Amino acid sequence: MTAAPVAASAVAAEASRRRTFAVISHPDAGKSTLTEALALHARVIGNAGAVHGKGGRRGVVSDWMEMEQARGISITSAALQFEYGDNVINLLDTPGHADFSEDTYRVLAAVDCAVMLLDAAKGLEPQTLKLFDVCRHRGIPVLTFVNKWDRPGLDALAICDQLEERIGLRPTPLTWPVGESGHFRGLLDRRSGEMAVFERAPGGVRISAERRLTPDEAAETYDGEWHTALEEVQLLDHVDEASFRAGRTTPLLFGAAVNNIGVGHLLQTLVELAPPPSARPDASGELRDVDEPFSGLVFKVQAGMDKAHRDRVAFVRVCSGRFERGAVVTHAATGRPFATKYAQALFGRDRDTVEIAYPGDIIGLVNASALRPGDTLHAREAPVEFAGMPSFAPEHFAVCRARDTGRSKQFRRGIQQLEHEGVVQVLRSELRGDAAPILAAVGPLQFDVSAHRLEHEFGSAVRLDRLPYSLARRTRADDRATLDAEHDVEVVERGDGALLALFSDRWRLASVQRRHPELMLEPLVAGA
Ligand code: GDP
Repeated sequence: MTAAPVAASAVAAEASRRRTFAVISHPDAGKSTLTEALALHARVIGNAGAVHGKGGRRGVVSDWMEMEQARGISITSAALQFEYGDNVINLLDTPGHADFSEDTYRVLAAVDCAVMLLDAAKGLEPQTLKLFDVCRHRGIPVLTFVNKWDRPGLDALAICDQLEERIGLRPTPLTWPVGESGHFRGLLDRRSGEMAVFERAPGGVRISAERRLTPDEAAETYDGEWHTALEEVQLLDHVDEASFRAGRTTPLLFGAAVNNIGVGHLLQTLVELAPPPSARPDASGELRDVDEPFSGLVFKVQAGMDKAHRDRVAFVRVCSGRFERGAVVTHAATGRPFATKYAQALFGRDRDTVEIAYPGDIIGLVNASALRPGDTLHAREAPVEFAGMPSFAPEHFAVCRARDTGRSKQFRRGIQQLEHEGVVQVLRSELRGDAAPILAAVGPLQFDVSAHRLEHEFGSAVRLDRLPYSLARRTRADDRATLDAEHDVEVVERGDGALLALFSDRWRLASVQRRHPELMLEPLVAGA
């Protein structure tokens, strides 16, 4: 960058007070509610309900494209920043529901920690598990928050068993509920030994007032329930920072986001235990320290967020150095300069111009058509290139054809661009030919996004026909003939040269494997 050098120690100090994380959960576990409660707790917004536009509440998540409005869902990953005491918290949204897609996974390339949010009645759910896999694969430490304890649900110890047995993650509770779910009396704070009781604030409009009871007071008032909580929590280990950061244990908290219960504990835990931004390995494994000159990783590119401008925003996580708006940085993939005059902090609908950002912060760069997920930007004088974005295991497949065959040039150019940006994976085979590639995606919404962009951006309206596959396995050329002879199995080539075999479901896969144990059919790990 052209800006005057900034003292490395100042950058390191800014980095060390930052916590950058995402909430991983299954739809309806309470992610939006928790996001609001966290922001409210940190007192950035006076009134919960201003963060996400759900159920008629005032929304600040950008709505883009007609189809988003029609569906009433948000496609945008909002990055929310707020101060909490001396700390700066960056909370990245992981799109869920129907907008679950590769972008949901990619967000995890930009965080230092994740909060796994569980519904007390449901425990571990499929989408949570998928996201947890990516965290594990990337070595991201995970805190666990059990939500909705105000409602009847599972036993606290049963939830601990699920964590340990199903995903091999040892829970180390910081708080423990007094009273079964649905008969929630308060939280045992393991460190102080006290009990926190809350004056509930229905609707999440105010922070619940918290009162502390000494162990004697708690025993007197809640006798049996207090003693049960004490006995139960004794069965479990205490928090251990090293094993948490290594991904073997998870600090566990309980609460009810809708009433702001337990949310303060969660914030405090993030500040105390979650790792701050730290040195990041480049593509060759060498570490780039946070106090080295500016570098950033593009983890998501959003097209057409602003209808009036038809712009493209690249979301960048600052990895090292100080970002200053207006500086010219280098796009590592092309070696070309990239002007950052239009950098924005994305706080929902209102785009504030960001002037300065530090490691862990998220900036949005507009007019970023040259940038794609996985790209690195760096200060001119200090080049670096981080590892690119992995492709993820697709679960949805569709054949794509141009409606007007006279526009095959536009069609091919569009498909190439979508593949390049990582919007969808493009799978080809000789049999289907170039005019009918298969688009593969983590979430079906990517098909709508692709069709919309092919028509409006590249001038080629398309027809998409869904294929009955839900599973891809990596295979090798030698196995091709055997797989081709199987019915309902298709072998295709991905853009990076990988050969994939597509199956309708895991039963079909299992039957092929049983008959041909010699075949190579490797799972595509989420995040690999
Ligand atoms: P998301 O899909 O994960 O973003 O979930 P939401 O935040 O939209 O919450 C889903 C539903 O659960 C909403 O009706 C919330 O009001 C409700 N909810 C969220 N947190 C709690 C909680 O702590 N207790 C109860 N009883 N309901 C909650």
